[in-house]
Amino acid sequence: SKTPAESYIHAVFEQLIAKNAHQPEFLQAVEEIFISLVPVFEQHPEYIQHNILSRIVEPDRIVSFRVSWQDDQNQVQVNRGYRVQFNNVVGPYKGGLRFHPSVNESIMKFLAFEQIFKNALTGLPIGGAKGGSDFNPKGKSNGEIMRFCQAYMTELYRHIGPDVDVPAGDIGVGAREIGFLFGQYKRIRNAHEAGVLTGKTPGYGGSLVRKEATGYGLVYFVEEMLRDISETFLNKTVVVSGSGNVAIYAIKKAQELGAKVVACSDSDGYIFDPDGIDLNIVKEIKEVNCERIKTYVNYRPNAIYTEDFRGIWSIPCDIALPCATQNEIDGDAARTLSANGVKVVAEGANMPSNLEAINVFLENGILFGPAKAANAGGVATSALEMAQNSGRNYWTFEEVDEKLRDIMKSIYAVSKEAAHKYGSEGNLVVGSNIAGFVKVADGMIAEGV
Ligand code: GLU
Repeated sequence: SKTPAESYIHAVFEQLIAKNAHQPEFLQAVEEIFISLVPVFEQHPEYIQHNILSRIVEPDRIVSFRVSWQDDQNQVQVNRGYRVQFNNVVGPYKGGLRFHPSVNESIMKFLAFEQIFKNALTGLPIGGAKGGSDFNPKGKSNGEIMRFCQAYMTELYRHIGPDVDVPAGDIGVGAREIGFLFGQYKRIRNAHEAGVLTGKTPGYGGSLVRKEATGYGLVYFVEEMLRDISETFLNKTVVVSGSGNVAIYAIKKAQELGAKVVACSDSDGYIFDPDGIDLNIVKEIKEVNCERIKTYVNYRPNAIYTEDFRGIWSIPCDIALPCATQNEIDGDAARTLSANGVKVVAEGANMPSNLEAINVFLENGILFGPAKAANAGGVATSALEMAQNSGRNYWTFEEVDEKLRDIMKSIYAVSKEAAHKYGSEGNLVVGSNIAGFVKVADGMIAEGV
């Protein structure tokens, strides 16, 4: 038989399944949190009285719109744009924009939902949102990217603002796209509201360290995990999936701390370099030439390319950092990593491990740093960018980096403490979910219905 807390959580989840039957990613993200919350609801009946769960899984607002733009052949193309404004209890809606052909309402909702708790965990005043489009930037010219961004912002501008909703980058959206989006917002509004977007280039409102922040923050978080077992990155073998912004700066910081990073990937396949990844080559391939990662083997004779991006998890390593995309580690990949002796897994991407994979890691006693905590350095530094924009000044690289490091330490401490308090010692999944949730739930009660 179920406790009142279990019955309540179960009933809300059943309703959610009925309403969102075709949104598997969203249901997955909610299920992971709900499982963690049982002990919280047992100790806090007021959360049941205020029906917090039914309220928190319903986005404040979902904006969905047509984006029409002209390609280089003067053909009119049409895409769907989204912005999910999920919860603004803690601060203005905040979260990235993803341009990728897989984007749909389920993926937008899962990302925005995760963002609520991640952002609360940073301790900074930011609510949860996400947006994007099914636009595929792959193979598009600079002009096409610019016209798409302008068309996208021509609709989005009416829904955002420095105190309303502050988008940033995610997959497919970097400093170039943020520049085009900001330019269009500024033209329409006739005001330099720098704080309306983060991830801007330093020089017109961007913060130093923002580009590096998710990857660096991930490594700072893992440093905290390692410290608890009296270990460091020195001489550890590390596998990092992905080769985008998160992966590149996770590799950079891990290498600076003395680790040997032997593999990275893109959505086609992975490279294994037994001598350690040469990051300058990866940056040249991805940032300058915009090529696929397989061209890495043209520069490094000992490197091997395998056309199967999931195969990267069969490489034995001490530390695995999934930095590509959702559900890139399933139960089988988690079992292979475990059997090969991985000690730490920490998520740079959002929801890269499915529920089965998380359970495999936890059951095998592997230290597991969940995305909400481990990759929060990106959005935390976005909040630092907003603070600099509001104060109309700039902080130095060292100042921002030190703040980022302190925030990652605090997220680790708060998550560990919440896990301890609610009887799941050492379980950072439960700890980060609870710490983020309690803050938002208490705010919801205080702010009324
Ligand atoms: N897209 C990033 C994330 O998943 C950053 C969002 C932001 O900086 O607003 O957290």
